[in-house]
Amino acid sequence: MNSNEILQLFKDSNALLTGHFKLTSGRHSDVYYEKFTLLKQPEICTKMCEQMANQFKEANPVTIVGPTTGGIIIAYDVARYMGIESIYAEAGDEGGRVFKRGFSLEKGQKVVIVDDVLTTGRSIFEVIELCNKYEAEIVGIGLMLDRSNGKVKFDYPFYALTSVDADSWEVADCPMCAKGEELTQRGSRKF
Ligand SMILES: [Zn+2]
Repeated sequence: MNSNEILQLFKDSNALLTGHFKLTSGRHSDVYYEKFTLLKQPEICTKMCEQMANQFKEANPVTIVGPTTGGIIIAYDVARYMGIESIYAEAGDEGGRVFKRGFSLEKGQKVVIVDDVLTTGRSIFEVIELCNKYEAEIVGIGLMLDRSNGKVKFDYPFYALTSVDADSWEVADCPMCAKGEELTQRGSRKF
């Protein structure tokens, strides 16, 4: 699958919405990525994981590492395609990421770090820092969707299945607010 076909998968799964959204940061955006709308659909998600597994085959990792929570699912499925192991990095009590549950890396162990969406890169940078503490060898970083507009760069081989241009604005500068457009409501029933 090429980048456009992957992007279409995101849209077909309703994980990638266009409209007028208020982000967690308070900024407004014309694109919204609903993380678990993709991850709750294994049939779609697994196609992307297969593609990522193929991409990193030659790098010959022995472990796939993902940050909680979405990264658990992705790391597991990519590793399944590659016939290797997957572990995940959890939030540490003092910030950053840690391995729990007996997870560990050896010095020089080849790892690929994966996650679903790249926005600021914060969780990926935390996992990089963690892998470096163990002196593991990071042979790749894989994302399903790059929505950083090319702003986030890594010092390791980086591959995103697809990318989307996503603008965001302070409310005062939002062109959709200027046109008086209502915010798009994302449905979720509350009990
Ligand atoms: Zn707005």
